[in-house]
Amino acid sequence: MALALLRHMRCLCTLPRTVAALQSSIDKRSYAERGSLERVVSAFRAVVGDDGVSLGAAVREQHGKDESVHSCQPPDVVVWPRSVEEVSALAKICHHHRLPIIPFGTGTGLEGGVGAMKGGVCFSLRKMDSVLDLHQEDFDVTVEPGVTRKALNAYLRDTGLWFPVGWCSPTAAWLPPARRAPTGRRHQVNLEVVLADGTIIHTQRSRKTAAGYNLTNLFVGSEGTLGVLTKATLRLYGVPEALVSAVCSFPSVQAAVDSTVHILQAGIPIARIEFLDDVMIDACNRYSALSYPVSPTLFLEFHGTERGLEEQVSITEEITQGNCGSDFSWARDTETRARLWKARHDAWYAALALRPGCRAYATDVCVPISHLPQIIVETKKDLTENHLTGPIAGHVGDGNFHCLMVLDPHDPDEVKRVHHFTERLARRALALDGTCTGEHGVGLGKRALLREELGPLAMEVMQGLKAALDPKNLMNPGKVL
Ligand SMILES: Cc1cc2nc3c(=O)[nH]c(=O)nc-3n(C[C@H](O)[C@H](O)[C@H](O)COP(=O)(O)OP(=O)(O)OC[C@H]3O[C@@H](n4cnc5c(N)ncnc54)[C@H](O)[C@@H]3O)c2cc1C
Repeated sequence: MALALLRHMRCLCTLPRTVAALQSSIDKRSYAERGSLERVVSAFRAVVGDDGVSLGAAVREQHGKDESVHSCQPPDVVVWPRSVEEVSALAKICHHHRLPIIPFGTGTGLEGGVGAMKGGVCFSLRKMDSVLDLHQEDFDVTVEPGVTRKALNAYLRDTGLWFPVGWCSPTAAWLPPARRAPTGRRHQVNLEVVLADGTIIHTQRSRKTAAGYNLTNLFVGSEGTLGVLTKATLRLYGVPEALVSAVCSFPSVQAAVDSTVHILQAGIPIARIEFLDDVMIDACNRYSALSYPVSPTLFLEFHGTERGLEEQVSITEEITQGNCGSDFSWARDTETRARLWKARHDAWYAALALRPGCRAYATDVCVPISHLPQIIVETKKDLTENHLTGPIAGHVGDGNFHCLMVLDPHDPDEVKRVHHFTERLARRALALDGTCTGEHGVGLGKRALLREELGPLAMEVMQGLKAALDPKNLMNPGKVL
């Protein structure tokens, strides 16, 4: 059977690939063996055209991994639909042949979400990149999944509106928290979703609603395990009249967090408040030729009117001084603001530069803000004791922080130590009433931790939802649950 399939596949390949790679892919392909690959691939081509399907090894490899350290699990085929109708038609074929579907955005996830654990078909949404409907008076816009934040904001340039975060990623999306208007709220209003059997649904019609279950949030957090998101209506916000950026150093993590709490308690409508630990600041100083004191540091951003901002900045400075903050500097003009925030913006690359030739992998947890100093101090001790490089950057306003682990992927001992460290970190967060991930999602890597966090009963509810929406377990199998 495998050899027969191999013969079919060799005829169908559009790019050169080795027989050994193909053979091993077929050996893994428990689902695909049940259907005829030849017929399946022809059916895909009938929907998306010859250039919308690839069986090439390099292409499959590229779509079988993200930015995490999880090993590559290539899909059997990659398809590039251009519309919801095409996604639905492709899903129907997969459903009929019991082929897994793995949605793929840009592959920048950090928990192994795009690996094809059981082979199957990668649905790359890259070609669905249109901005569809802009309603300026309603402050919303409908976009396809390939639209990036940059592209959307370029489109919105002359409207006086903007979208402050990344796309409606089915992981948690790029949500620098403590943001004023959207804090604690999802940015997606309505989603169009293609279910495993090809059915197309919409999750919500109106911006404000009390009608029925909140399907929007269910699908936003589903990491491709419940359906393929093909459109999202996103909330937009007015471009602020003025912006101020500020930076302040602190003698301890506790002092930085206390300042954050006091700023929030004072009702200052802070737009962004980000934390870097001393190791991260040191790395940024070296990488970007800066000279910040090597100590815990807050990066702040204020949005508002010229007059309002003056008051916000002056109260914030007072608060930081009351918490032993030093070197408070702030700026209004674009160039100086960019310079002040350069350390924060370059943090990823600065961390990487600590160990040239190594890889970076970010893990995140979130705790109630009052527990942040304790968990950060314990985590830094853990890193030192285990000889690991893991500078810390946090969205301190809501207790969420990332350890940017810099490691040698070819050193199995170090990879293992990082793995154990991330588990300890997550368990430390759980012990402090936190969560094993505030942003990056569960993917492949945090499934056991999710179970520990929610307990068996909540897991059963999730499994029931999954079974109801995807009874054949075709949507991104092996992830989340
Ligand atoms: C340098 C760096 C910094 C980062 N910083 C942050 C940060 O500050 N905050 C934060 O939240 N995240 C951060 N991330 C991780 C972030 O979650 C991802 O980069 C991004 O949200 C994932 O989008 P993607 O399109 O690349 O998803 P992919 O990696 O392509 O996919 C992620 C998951 O979503 C599923 N998926 C993708 N598209 C769809 C779709 N259309 N329908 C259904 N399921 C789909 C996939 O199957 C997979 O399970 C960072 C990553 C990097 C590399």
